[in-house]
Amino acid sequence: DYVKPEGPVSTICPYCGVGCSINLEISRGKIVGVSGDLNNPISNGRLCVKGRYGIKEFVHHPDRLTNPLIKRDGEFVESAWDEALEYACSKLYQYRPEEVAVIASAKATNEENYLIQKFARAVLKTNNVDHSARLCHAPTVTGLAAAFGSGAMTNSIGDLKESACFFILGANTSETHPIIGFDIKQAVKNGAKLVVANPVKIPLVRYADVYLQINPGSDVMLLSAMCKIINDEGLLDQEFIDQRTEEFDQFKKSLKKFDLEQAVAVTGVPLEDIRKAARLYASSKPASILYAMGVTQHRHGTDNVSAVANLAMLTGNLGKPGGGVNPLRGQNNVQGACDMGALPDVLPGYQKVSDDQVRARFESAWGVKLPPAPGLSLLEIIDAVDRKQIKALYVVGENLMLSDPDLNHLKKALMKLEFLVVQDIFMNETAELARVVLPSTTFAEKEGTFTNTERRVQRLRKAINPVGYSKPDWWITAQLGKRLCGKGFDFSNSTQIFEEIRSLTPSYAGITYERVQNNGMQWPCPSINHPGTPILHVEAFTRGKGVFKAVKYLPPAESPDTEYPFILTTGRSLYHFHTGTMTRRVRGLKQLQPMETLEIAATDAVGLEIEDNDLVNVSSRRGSVRARARISKRIKPGTIFMTFHFPETATNILTNAVRDPVAKIPELKVAAVKIEKV
Ligand code: SF4
Repeated sequence: DYVKPEGPVSTICPYCGVGCSINLEISRGKIVGVSGDLNNPISNGRLCVKGRYGIKEFVHHPDRLTNPLIKRDGEFVESAWDEALEYACSKLYQYRPEEVAVIASAKATNEENYLIQKFARAVLKTNNVDHSARLCHAPTVTGLAAAFGSGAMTNSIGDLKESACFFILGANTSETHPIIGFDIKQAVKNGAKLVVANPVKIPLVRYADVYLQINPGSDVMLLSAMCKIINDEGLLDQEFIDQRTEEFDQFKKSLKKFDLEQAVAVTGVPLEDIRKAARLYASSKPASILYAMGVTQHRHGTDNVSAVANLAMLTGNLGKPGGGVNPLRGQNNVQGACDMGALPDVLPGYQKVSDDQVRARFESAWGVKLPPAPGLSLLEIIDAVDRKQIKALYVVGENLMLSDPDLNHLKKALMKLEFLVVQDIFMNETAELARVVLPSTTFAEKEGTFTNTERRVQRLRKAINPVGYSKPDWWITAQLGKRLCGKGFDFSNSTQIFEEIRSLTPSYAGITYERVQNNGMQWPCPSINHPGTPILHVEAFTRGKGVFKAVKYLPPAESPDTEYPFILTTGRSLYHFHTGTMTRRVRGLKQLQPMETLEIAATDAVGLEIEDNDLVNVSSRRGSVRARARISKRIKPGTIFMTFHFPETATNILTNAVRDPVAKIPELKVAAVKIEKV
């Protein structure tokens, strides 16, 4: 169905959740140029360094997987598609539902994630399906859904410029969501106020009215202190609280007992600065909170998100242009993968698998019986693999062996699998452990939709033919489904899959390929005449009334001690993306950041007799890695900072898999470590 493009092909950037629209210039079947789309309401023609320079080299890289691979006598051997698919099916067929699990992908399209979870549920008869949202915004889904009824970003990127004040908490916006970072910088230059709370002095601190360099894991203390100050000083929005929320009295009671001095001790921030931040946020209307992994990747991530929701409701900063709570999604389609039900407890549209009526609707549409009990989440799957309860795993587009916590434990667990099939564009650390590797196409070689961080469903368009014998993820999963089930997977293009999605997903019911062909549409869009929803919770919350929740501070699982005296906090850089499989194959980006570094405060470096660029060993209770030291003014003594983009320094060997009891997210942001000069 491929038609050679006559001009540039308009599609979506494959990197972050901002979802900038890009034009791909094609010559002789190859991408030769990338430019921003001037008509796109998010990016208006702008692209960051990854979007502009980080695409064509990885798409056409000689490392691309071009043929299916089957491991024979410890070596991968190229095979034909039929043979690889038959082999994978013959293996997967052997296992009972409780013995298999599927990992979906925040980089695959909506259509692909829909098919992956359908394959898990309808074919393998298991709800053991999850994806990397478990490692990023799972607490947003649990925390905001409890408070508001929806776990999504409340505002649009475009209306954020109407904020009179931005409170950026646990997010490095200029580096991880660069176009939003740029918009905030502009708004601040035009008079908006800016409060930043982050253990790392992020680039936006330069423009901040107040900077709170909090200790990692102290968010509940900071947010509760701000709420207490706002309440005590009468800066709350009583009318909003009375009309739009419930459980306020109980929350107010909890603030009475709250000890501000303890907040100072735990956060490491002077009380005057917390006061200044609270007053600025509460008195500037409308105000927006933007947050990311710094809030969620904790063993009490759900509490952190609840505390964010409390602060916004207390001040009435919800449901208006420039006023809201905005969890910034990391990967380009992590919102869509969640929307499509690539989660263990919900079908597409967050419809619970345990609800008999919901299941009956899907059973009737798919013509199969579905399992009613919620499945295992990502790290629970790994635990079950380690116990040899789960024996077979199908991983699509996720490099678990760099992104997950406690990698030594993870590797030991994955080695116990009887069968691992990995679907990806490159051989990676996870695929190396597989029995079968299925080569998939990049974003540029397929049709479909992505849903960005502001809930905007946008069209992805095929610009070039698949490289080698690679195939779109949806095609591969459909082939497996057809072979194992025989029905429900007979799709010949992504449009047909999207039509099935909208017939079963109320928030996507009014969205069609035709309606999103130019600038996309934001869900919820329940009918064909509905215009989409740029701002959530305008008249009422999705759940009716917003609900306050008194949250109690719990410390991180690990604190510094004599053996492990530093706290490692992890994050991302502007030049690389997540596990770096794409950006490390782009020469310019590799030159800008060629390797992992360990950022350490000058006084700590002096104490350890470490100089800039020295090689150091970093060890936690779970393992060690080596990195070059970088003496940095971005962090305070006692804390060190690393990214996780490089396999040579697999930072997640150090991180802690202890997890939030509700959201099941691991505590990737806080690990006690020691540092030794090599
Ligand atoms: Fe791509 Fe995000 Fe950069 Fe936009 S901001 S160009 S979506 S990486």
